[in-house]
Amino acid sequence: MDAITPKPFRLGDSWRRHQDGDAVITSINPADGSIAGVVTRALPQDVDTAVAIAQHAFQQQPWRKLRPDQRAATLYEIGRRLLAEREALARLQMQDSGKPWKECLNMVDSAAGHFRYYAAVCETWQNEMTSPRGEYFSMALAEPFGVVAAITPWNSPIMNEAQKAAPALAAGNAVLIKPSEETPQLALELARICAEAGLPEGLLIVLPGHGEDVGAALVKHPGVRMVSFTGGTETGRAIGGIAGQRLIPVGLELGGKSPHIVFDDADLDRAVAGVISGIFGSAGQSCVAGSRLFVQKSIYKRFMETLVERTRQLRVGLPDDPATQMGPLVSRAHRDKVAGYVDIGRSEGGRVLVGGAAPSQPDLARGWFYLPTVIDGLGNQARVCQEEIFGPVLVALPFDDEDDVISQANDTAFGLAAGMWTGDYARAWRVAREIEAGSIWINTYKQSHIATPFGGFKASGIGREKGLHGLRLYSQVKSLYWGMHDKPMGL
Ligand code: NAD
Repeated sequence: MDAITPKPFRLGDSWRRHQDGDAVITSINPADGSIAGVVTRALPQDVDTAVAIAQHAFQQQPWRKLRPDQRAATLYEIGRRLLAEREALARLQMQDSGKPWKECLNMVDSAAGHFRYYAAVCETWQNEMTSPRGEYFSMALAEPFGVVAAITPWNSPIMNEAQKAAPALAAGNAVLIKPSEETPQLALELARICAEAGLPEGLLIVLPGHGEDVGAALVKHPGVRMVSFTGGTETGRAIGGIAGQRLIPVGLELGGKSPHIVFDDADLDRAVAGVISGIFGSAGQSCVAGSRLFVQKSIYKRFMETLVERTRQLRVGLPDDPATQMGPLVSRAHRDKVAGYVDIGRSEGGRVLVGGAAPSQPDLARGWFYLPTVIDGLGNQARVCQEEIFGPVLVALPFDDEDDVISQANDTAFGLAAGMWTGDYARAWRVAREIEAGSIWINTYKQSHIATPFGGFKASGIGREKGLHGLRLYSQVKSLYWGMHDKPMGL
């Protein structure tokens, strides 16, 4: 570790370099426990400096006053440079997060896609205008807030940051990013690429600090005018509480416990594949993981046999092995949490049908792997059915009919996503209208389109990212009235 020089982070036009005695964040490679990188740790006092620099940049730089197509040129360039460094960024991501190689490439592509999409939106964005009404006409201008804080989790580094930074910058704001302490490196690379692409100094600053000090200091800072948070529901509740006191807007993208429903008229082969990728993709470390499986009683036994058999065949392996379908969990603590939930499921009377342990392959012994796991024999009120595990653990429940499954699916505090497999599109429409969730997939799962809004119902969040909603999240509206009176106004 002595040989590794902690990476600096950029504060305005200078770098905050590591000095003897400074704190660091050490990122560990979840696949083998080696050091993935060491980063100079931001502290609460850095928040004051960063906010002052970002405020100055917002006020003094022409960015917010540029024509949208001029801002778009820089955003396109950021997207282009992200793709030019695609493989190096994906490799760093693989080391930081343990995600399999293909997923890491997808994350970088998605990050670049967000910058391209918001560049295009920026170019074509129209302010709303009324037609003249004789004495005046009016228009609604979308204006930036100023300094926006973006606080992100570890499960999709660079994509989560891009999903916030691209629309926030497109709308004319300055952005302070606080990435997860588990995966701090990709956000620093994003800041470098933004600077190299010509984004003016101070408009995007990354503070690689801890949540309880740097994250909390950002949310409380009077210079921060809006907070966009993605992470756990309890953290979101705390942040939302402070933002409520301060009367500043928040966007909250929180946890889920998404129902995945299989009706007896579904194409069962496709449904099994969809259910498996819906929960075991990213080793279940996905906010939209389909973690509660509801299978119609008439096909329950047959479906579960196939599901268990195919789950057993999944290849758990090192992230850089092209044959790997599921990599490790992000940290030892997180694997312990996931394993603890499986124990809770057992103690509640659940049957572990497959998995339920760490894999035995010797080449995986140094990493934080856990086998894909399926549990059944529990009711929807069991803790493993109600609490977000955020790991490769699927809980299966049988259901009778549409009414029964709608009521069980909605019987949760969360409302992020849901999926269903059926051959009857009228039924799909009926059920989709009744399910309380922000995204619903029909005969597919976990698809994501940058232009399609994303966010949660109930305890899964407030507001929507992506699409035009994403740009609106980072804009406030100012209405202007232009008088065209041909005689003085009178009472
Ligand atoms: P987390 O809530 O522990 O941390 C998220 C971020 O918040 C981190 O950067 C952390 O440092 C920071 N933070 C922690 N305490 C804070 C505080 N008091 N004030 C300010 N910032 C603070 O979540 P996590 O473990 O990193 O991520 C997993 C969670 O994220 C899961 O619940 C998952 O469902 C959720 N998630 C949601 C979405 C979505 O779009 N809805 C996407 C990805 C992940």
